[in-house]
Amino acid sequence: MKKPLIVQKFGGTSVGSIERIHAVAEHIINSKKQGYQVVVVVSAMSGETNRLMSLAKQVDVVPAARELDVLLAAGEQMSMALLAMTLNKLGHAAASLTGVQAKITTDNRHNDATISHIDAGPILELLAQEQIVIVAGFQGVTKQGDITTLGRGGSDTTAVTLAGALNAQECQIFTDVDGVYSCDPRVVPQAQRLPIIDFPSMECMARHGAKVLHLPSVQYAWQHQVPLRVLSSFDLNSGTLVKGENCHRPMSGLAILRDMCLIHIESERILNVQKQCQLLGITIGNVIEHPEWSAIVIKQDDYTKLELAFQQKISNSEPIGLLTMVGLQAERSAERSCQLLAAQSIKTIHVASDGLSITLAISPESIDKAANILHHAHIASSEALVCLQKHASLNE
Ligand code: ASP
Ligand code: MG
Repeated sequence: MKKPLIVQKFGGTSVGSIERIHAVAEHIINSKKQGYQVVVVVSAMSGETNRLMSLAKQVDVVPAARELDVLLAAGEQMSMALLAMTLNKLGHAAASLTGVQAKITTDNRHNDATISHIDAGPILELLAQEQIVIVAGFQGVTKQGDITTLGRGGSDTTAVTLAGALNAQECQIFTDVDGVYSCDPRVVPQAQRLPIIDFPSMECMARHGAKVLHLPSVQYAWQHQVPLRVLSSFDLNSGTLVKGENCHRPMSGLAILRDMCLIHIESERILNVQKQCQLLGITIGNVIEHPEWSAIVIKQDDYTKLELAFQQKISNSEPIGLLTMVGLQAERSAERSCQLLAAQSIKTIHVASDGLSITLAISPESIDKAANILHHAHIASSEALVCLQKHASLNE
């Protein structure tokens, strides 16, 4: 009988040192002993992608996109080889594959490419030889043969897409937290692990800055119904299962998006600026149209690109952070949220909503404090817990 196949992805911290790579290898061997065929996806060792990125930025603030991909892809190439070496040394045949070798084809959008196709042939061949296959995350190759990368955090997407292409039983994302939390626990110590979260809520959290999963990985898993589990490689409890179509929680979580920039624009110029951004490959997060003012929200990195394109400083811009609450009752909580923040002298610059969520734009230095206030009010306080329980019992 054919063995069941799982894809396991290990993030940067999990492969951050030779000792940790050793622990990951033991973990993979265990899964193999339990009767699984294992395909592993690795990130670069922690800090490595940042280090490579800062080298590039010392050369040019906006480095040539094609060359940046060649450079960044090197990070994953190191960790995959070290892991495969470790497995071989421990007596388990393993082979590493770059994105090119694993035939992960992408579009031509350097630094933010999308996987268009994976030819499972090379991986299946190695699996047939009883080898453990280690694939470099975050990278692919264009039809023309150029190396691409999938955007920061993109190894998750490699793993989920591979799980889909190989028809894996499950895609397991091993990371440095033991699951998906109601907010980033480094910012909000009260944050709680969610044992299960539906795809729409997870997608919304990832789209609004929750870094635990790369957005396209959630979208792919949702679209192709790939069972997805987020676990810690240090502490093997059951983590978080991402599945299902319907959100059942009044408030699932709070996502934080930092390093954003709000640019005020005269209303009649908005269409023009949107076109410019499209040409430059800049994604506009929000278009804000108030009766008295209009603005767009983009990433601060993109703001540098925009300034370069206009060859001048853009006046009327301000750094902001975005806080997004996700859940069935998110929209209804807008007014109270603004009041709670105002009571602590935190001004809400703008509020936007989209059915399952509301987003508040606030100044960057207040983000952490605001996240704690809103998380407490809507998720962790005893009042919020009672509301959660009531909701759960109504839905039983
Ligand atoms: N190494 C890449 C990054 O740091 C990709 C990843 O870890 O998923 O963004
Ligand atoms: Mg990640």
